[in-house]
Amino acid sequence: MPSGSFDIVVVGGGISGLLVARELRAAGLSVAVFERGEIGREASWAGGGILSPLYPWRYDAAVTALARWGQARYPELCAEWQVLSGVDPEYRPGGLLMLDEDEVTPALVWAPGAGAEVDGLNRRELADLAPGVQAPGRSAAWMPAVGQVRNPRLVRALRGVVERMGVVLRPGEAVEGLLTSQNRVDGVTTAAGRVGAGAVAVTTGAWASQLLEPFINLAIKPVRGQMLLYRATPATVGPVVLAGGRYVIPRRDGRVLVGSTLEDTGFDKRTTAAARADLEAAARAIVPALGDYPVEHHWAGLRPGSPDGVPYIGPLPGTGGLYVNAGHYRNGVVLGPASARLLADLMLARPPIVDATPYAVDRPRSGGYGL
Ligand SMILES: Cc1cc2nc3c(=O)[nH]c(=O)nc-3n(C[C@H](O)[C@H](O)[C@H](O)COP(=O)(O)OP(=O)(O)OC[C@H]3O[C@@H](n4cnc5c(N)ncnc54)[C@H](O)[C@@H]3O)c2cc1C
Repeated sequence: MPSGSFDIVVVGGGISGLLVARELRAAGLSVAVFERGEIGREASWAGGGILSPLYPWRYDAAVTALARWGQARYPELCAEWQVLSGVDPEYRPGGLLMLDEDEVTPALVWAPGAGAEVDGLNRRELADLAPGVQAPGRSAAWMPAVGQVRNPRLVRALRGVVERMGVVLRPGEAVEGLLTSQNRVDGVTTAAGRVGAGAVAVTTGAWASQLLEPFINLAIKPVRGQMLLYRATPATVGPVVLAGGRYVIPRRDGRVLVGSTLEDTGFDKRTTAAARADLEAAARAIVPALGDYPVEHHWAGLRPGSPDGVPYIGPLPGTGGLYVNAGHYRNGVVLGPASARLLADLMLARPPIVDATPYAVDRPRSGGYGL
């Protein structure tokens, strides 16, 4: 039974898919998003919403380029999406404090070249800036321009935005296969039948390798991240704080997220008692007062891990009409707007916002997923 035909079928309704749909619909194309489960309930829901890579100086320039593009636009985009959808993504420019003493010099060296602002702080300055925070060392790095968003609200807002633009959303409808004719993708199959497409964008996050397996051996794999949510009171924590690979993220209503683990456990999304104990210890070490508050929620999400942390964005060589935007690993929120714009530029043959070469889908593998 045929169930429609669209200029573009986007497979996967996380932040990567919704942003691609937004770009292509804005260019006047008919767009449908097929999502196996609920819109925006996987990694895009589970994440912390920090609008910067953690320890950004450790990343390739290709990640920094997309991050900088998004960071410059997030305040305006969130304001626009709130007006269009009626949902506030809670963009908050609260800054990020990094307590790892041995990372302060690399941070200061990296910042000017990357166009970022990083200040070194001594103990007294740190105590003034973030009174509730316990610093292990004598110095810290302060990144005042780093913002954050609240993931569940961001995806709800984006959903509202694309619906209003006329994107067709098909939640609860998994894409089972990609249809080709003469080396060109011309549709997808779902349990309801065949859906015709002028082009298909695969934005299925941690699951991207599965759908693309008949075409390419893509190196994306799931990397589990567990998070805790404390029900604290506003001002328990000031800025986002990062220490020893763990972070605390204060939300406007006083809730505080603590994350996150990095686990190579396949598609298993269960939480574990060991991770909870580890994250609770990290929370108390960074902000001792958090020990006074209850943990309200504990969850896990599957990051779309790429070996080098650089997403795959662009056409699939050898198969016309097939595109990918996946593998954003730990940074899919901050990299989201630029990644979607870049993919749309490539699909529409517009001048790309950045050189697309480093994101090529068929680039050689490098890196070990940071595991
Ligand atoms: C614990 C944690 C903390 C994080 N913190 C941050 C952070 O602070 N800042 C940041 O920038 N990033 C962060 N990230 C990373 C970020 O959340 C992800 O990179 C991003 O959400 C990936 O978005 P996505 O749309 O590509 O994937 P997803 O949100 O996983 O969406 C993919 C979608 O595809 C669907 N799908 C899969 N297969 C099919 C199919 N066959 N047919 C139809 N639909 C299908 C899935 O159901 C899913 O909804 C974090 C991630 C985690 C897990």
